[in-house]
Amino acid sequence: MLSKRLEQLAEYLQDPIHFADIGSDHAYLPCYVCSRHEHATAIAGEVNQGPFERAKQTVGEYGLADRIEVRKGNGLEVIKEKEVNQITIAGMGGKLIRTILEEGKVKLSGVSRLILQPNLDAQIVRKWLIDHHYQIVAEEIITEDGYIYEIIVSNYQNKSPELSEQELLFGPYLLQEKSEVFLKKWCHEKEKRIKLINQMKQAANLPVEKMRKLETEIEWIEEVIE
Ligand code: SAM
Repeated sequence: MLSKRLEQLAEYLQDPIHFADIGSDHAYLPCYVCSRHEHATAIAGEVNQGPFERAKQTVGEYGLADRIEVRKGNGLEVIKEKEVNQITIAGMGGKLIRTILEEGKVKLSGVSRLILQPNLDAQIVRKWLIDHHYQIVAEEIITEDGYIYEIIVSNYQNKSPELSEQELLFGPYLLQEKSEVFLKKWCHEKEKRIKLINQMKQAANLPVEKMRKLETEIEWIEEVIE
């Protein structure tokens, strides 16, 4: 059974579906999507041998090898230009997602939608998106097995979208919605920042800039959750 997180992410793929799932591991997402949409095709990209083998095995078990190609390689190097119209990258840190997008950006022509699920540092992903003409059109925050996940859906557009610093941090849609899960996440994030500041105060050389940034974020969080 597919995780709620990946099921939710799959909902944002748009017909006609020709997508690449980068860091696909077992290729559960491409298999789920291609078994539900008879005309969908996918490329499952994996950089590591173990997951690459697992992905091939799952695709074989589902009998979907005619519509899902498993390719081994780093990030977007597994796709050719204009080969896919959408890309999913899930279950990695925001910094790694940004690196994959940045290093592979020449492959993004023709990619109208990016659906990303950073495990942390979502603001880094949002910043990369708006700097590269991808407008955030939807966001989700969900909880599963005690973890909180954010999904960011973005569409390519000609003009550069703008977001405030607060929208980058919290997510423009998540900030408007302020769901229970969102509030829980940011209560926890506030505590994390307070602890960090207390640790920093013990340091011989106070990292003043970092502390100021954290203090500002705490103020923003308080405005949002209270
Ligand atoms: N996307 C799946 C999910 O959300 O359940 C799997 C997530 S798993 C935690 C991350 C996967 O990304 C691993 O299988 C890892 O081998 C792969 N990976 C990490 N860096 C990668 C890169 N630069 N290019 C392709 N795959 C990568």
